[in-house]
Amino acid sequence: MNHEVTVLGAGVVGLTAAVTLAERGHRVRVVAEKSADADSAVAAALWAVPFVEQSERTRGWAYETLARLRRDAGPDTGIREQLCRVVGRAPSAGDPWTRGFTPPIRHASPDELPDGYGAGTVSSIPLIDMTRFLRWLRETLAHLGGTIHTRRVGALADLTSPGVTLVNAAGLGAGTLADDPSMRPVRSQVVRVANPGLAMTTIVRDGSLAPLFVVPRFDDVLIGGPVQNGVFDESPDPAVEADLLRRARLLEPALAQAPVLSRAVGHRPVRDTVRVESETRGGCRIVHCYGHGGAGIALSWGTARAAADLVEEAT
Ligand SMILES: Cc1cc2nc3c(=O)[nH]c(=O)nc-3n(C[C@H](O)[C@H](O)[C@H](O)COP(=O)(O)OP(=O)(O)OC[C@H]3O[C@@H](n4cnc5c(N)ncnc54)[C@H](O)[C@@H]3O)c2cc1C
Repeated sequence: MNHEVTVLGAGVVGLTAAVTLAERGHRVRVVAEKSADADSAVAAALWAVPFVEQSERTRGWAYETLARLRRDAGPDTGIREQLCRVVGRAPSAGDPWTRGFTPPIRHASPDELPDGYGAGTVSSIPLIDMTRFLRWLRETLAHLGGTIHTRRVGALADLTSPGVTLVNAAGLGAGTLADDPSMRPVRSQVVRVANPGLAMTTIVRDGSLAPLFVVPRFDDVLIGGPVQNGVFDESPDPAVEADLLRRARLLEPALAQAPVLSRAVGHRPVRDTVRVESETRGGCRIVHCYGHGGAGIALSWGTARAAADLVEEAT
């Protein structure tokens, strides 16, 4: 049976849900205030799962997404496989989440470690250029007959009506709209510089060192790392940017002359558990799909499939 579905949100979670529903033959319209400039556009973005519920179901969604990202890889989607090294001062036990990798995670050899770092791991994971990926999702949805309407919504009730299922994929905004106080922002600032020819992502993750990521993408390098829990502030701090650039240049000396192209602030929509569940309000069906934390891209196709299954359960 075909359903009529409204998806609230055109970040990565809403758009993958909309495309999945449209691929299954449902009539889909997306309503969102932002898309190209949604928080999803600020992400690095790697197949990685920080700041999110760590459970077997999220692990399943992550591996479901990994398979789809690899299937769709290419310049149009902005997805490509890239080596990623995670470095620190001392050897770590590795991340149990990624034990199913092919090729598997291996220890970095001494010549793969930056100066001053004693240990690290190297793996091959999808890297997603979010500008390209979000555009490709919007185009794919349009190709499948879905539509996108740009507007701010004051309440979920503005979008519900009998016979239409609403998918609430409004990221951080979903908390307010669904009267869910358990949502909180985890803020990060990033700076984008020209790519002098770097080809490997580096993540500094070590309890004794400030976090840092240096992610070479198709057209640029994205640098970020420090996080602020519970803080919402859209203005970039010049002092934080200067420190990010200083540390990234120590890690990758080739960045010394790379000009700054732009800067941005993003807020991860964090919740103790990702909410993928349905409810009925005033006789109308709502499927919630939000709270993806620092893993919205890495979980996206998995939660999109789960949300679409719930839509199809609706009577
Ligand atoms: C610096 C940084 C790096 C990151 N790196 C990674 C990474 O490497 N890998 C990874 O998987 N994740 C990463 N993330 C996390 C990832 O970006 C998020 O999990 C993801 O973007 C959440 O997507 P979303 O669609 O739920 O939310 P959003 O992208 O915020 O989209 C929400 C949508 O809802 C709409 N909306 C909200 N309220 C309303 C309203 N009232 N009316 C109308 N529309 C509304 C918005 O306009 C928008 O379209 C990173 C995040 C940051 C900040």
